[in-house]
Amino acid sequence: MKTRCTVLALALYSCITAVAQTSSAPRLTVIRAGTLIDPRGDAPKRNQVILIRGERIEAVGDAATVKSPEGATIIDLSNATVLPGMIESHTHLFLQGEDPTKGGYDIQLLKFYPAYRAARATVSARRALEQGFTTIRDMETEGAGYGDVGIKRAVDEGYIPGPRIFTTTRGISTTGGYPLEGYAPGVEVPKGVQIVDGPVEARKAAREQLDYGADWIKVYMTHRSWTDKNGKLVSQPTLTVEELKAIVDEAHGWGHKVACHAYSGEGLHRALDGGCDSIEHGLALDDAAIAQMKRQATWYCPTMTVYYTDNAPPDTPEGKRDRARVAEHEQSLKKAMQAELKIVFGTDVGGFPWTEPIAQEFGIMNKLGMSPIEAIRSATIRPAEMLDMQGEIGVIVPGAYADIIAVQGDPLRDIGELGRVNFVMKGGIVYGRESPTSTAH
Ligand SMILES: [Zn+2]
Repeated sequence: MKTRCTVLALALYSCITAVAQTSSAPRLTVIRAGTLIDPRGDAPKRNQVILIRGERIEAVGDAATVKSPEGATIIDLSNATVLPGMIESHTHLFLQGEDPTKGGYDIQLLKFYPAYRAARATVSARRALEQGFTTIRDMETEGAGYGDVGIKRAVDEGYIPGPRIFTTTRGISTTGGYPLEGYAPGVEVPKGVQIVDGPVEARKAAREQLDYGADWIKVYMTHRSWTDKNGKLVSQPTLTVEELKAIVDEAHGWGHKVACHAYSGEGLHRALDGGCDSIEHGLALDDAAIAQMKRQATWYCPTMTVYYTDNAPPDTPEGKRDRARVAEHEQSLKKAMQAELKIVFGTDVGGFPWTEPIAQEFGIMNKLGMSPIEAIRSATIRPAEMLDMQGEIGVIVPGAYADIIAVQGDPLRDIGELGRVNFVMKGGIVYGRESPTSTAH
């Protein structure tokens, strides 16, 4: 039986007809795409047909070359623009943009029960998916241990809706290199990361985290930041090159990669000398750092959005620092684009509330000179390569996972359209239509 559905603007899932398909055979779905943006090329294609078998794409082409098989569910997106599901390369499922008046960062580690934090993380995961981000790289749990591995498993087994998750588990920094801080010396408080001192402890932490399910290792190479008397951003370095090298050597040996939080200066250079695979934030990339990133093919995940939110008043030291961050960060992104560094889309969401739109980062990138197609590439084919998932995510091609989104307008004209995603499919399942537990065991 062939079923049909006509898609109305903003009511895209309301009309998909259930079809009788035997439970053992993989489901067949056909998407009719009015416009299809392929991030590998520049020109969008018109009137394309995408055939999906189970969780993967089987064929893509025009109606003459791709036929709709008997029994397939037809999803009509012929009035929409269809793109690959997007990839967010820097999230924090376990943070909620903590409000200082409600206890800020510290209360989560001191008073919140792990189940409460996990429950809130399930909402974060859903928020990513419903905005069209079908894959995320989550950049550590902020004191929630290996909670991200649990959330990932619950998503993969279909218990809760969420994106594909690349975990980093606990994160790593040094003594004096991460909150909680500011307590009296005799008072033992938990830390938002695993603290290491010396290459032996560093390697052991990497081994532990990989053993318990980390897909990536996240290292903080800088911590505090301030402005010097010339108004330039300065940041406190944390791990030594030797400590980082021990972690990188261990992670690479296991076939995994290392992401380094690094703002500027000494810590940024140690991150590069230690062989990190991605620089997170990179607020003040000097010329030598850019040249080294180019040479070492280091990924750059700028996360502009989080630094635009919640800046302190301009006449305070914190406010001056916050403004120096934004100004230097904007220059860094421009220089990185000019040098053609490998830039991936990430926001640090969780550092600001999950109720705010993730796609606002696209607007900032575009304002600073990145074309819409390049911005789309930063959230599709580029992170797919960084995550060693080329051809599987970030593209709509035969063999890839059926991670597909749609918007009503043209994001190549107005990048803001990516903030109005109104159709989300992940692994062949339409979000919002099928119960997440329908695939659970
Ligand atoms: Zn972060």
